[in-house]
Amino acid sequence: MRDSLNNYEKILKEIEDIKKRVGRTDDVLLLAVTKMVDEDLVRKFIGYGVTDIGENKVQDMEKRIEVFGDSVNYHLIGTLQRNKINKIIGKTKLIHSVDSIRLIDAIDKRSEREGVVTDFLVQLNISGEETKSGFSEEELDAFVKHVKELENVRLRGIMTMAPHVEDEDLIRSVFRRARELKEKIQNDDQSLAMDYLSMGMSHDYKIAVEEGSTIVRLGTILFGERNY
Ligand SMILES: *Cc1c(COP(=O)(O)O)cnc(C)c1O
Repeated sequence: MRDSLNNYEKILKEIEDIKKRVGRTDDVLLLAVTKMVDEDLVRKFIGYGVTDIGENKVQDMEKRIEVFGDSVNYHLIGTLQRNKINKIIGKTKLIHSVDSIRLIDAIDKRSEREGVVTDFLVQLNISGEETKSGFSEEELDAFVKHVKELENVRLRGIMTMAPHVEDEDLIRSVFRRARELKEKIQNDDQSLAMDYLSMGMSHDYKIAVEEGSTIVRLGTILFGERNY
């Protein structure tokens, strides 16, 4: 196996170098996407300094919580079914994948019952690919208006995925648009705390950091290829 610590530190340095090059002084969180990763390897990375891990299935996240408890923060990054919300409310730092009004209403209701406020990101499908979930740009205003009325959830930013293509300009345009939309929402309502822009995966995180990502979601580049 390659030296996973060297690799991890190389990626952190890469992110810092890009920030410096584009004149950024804000933070970029490296979210380690641990889906299907062996428990011992996850533990190793927590030892390296990983503070936040992401899973895309509720049951996988529950298992991580059982094992790692309070030693890391948990992010849900995949499609969330409403009948599973009760298993994770109060246990996530951030839900990245809110893609419908019905879902956020259910999260709000459950959060109220648990006496917590749940931070979340709205997932945007900027490229309009049918295989991707998320709101279109056209739907965004109405969604934001809706969630501002909810008291037990807090919109903290935008999550998006670029199309999986070689065309860097296309990828960049998606990330740039996500940033513009986040800034617009923030400018329209200063009472919101739109701190997060969750974008960039193994193949495109460098472009994402150039374009203002504050959370990169990295799996393959840290842990190697898995079948997902
Ligand atoms: C799997 C996954 C990632 C990580 O993808 P890699 O290409 O392995 O870095 C990021 N975001 C989401 C939503 C994922 O499902």
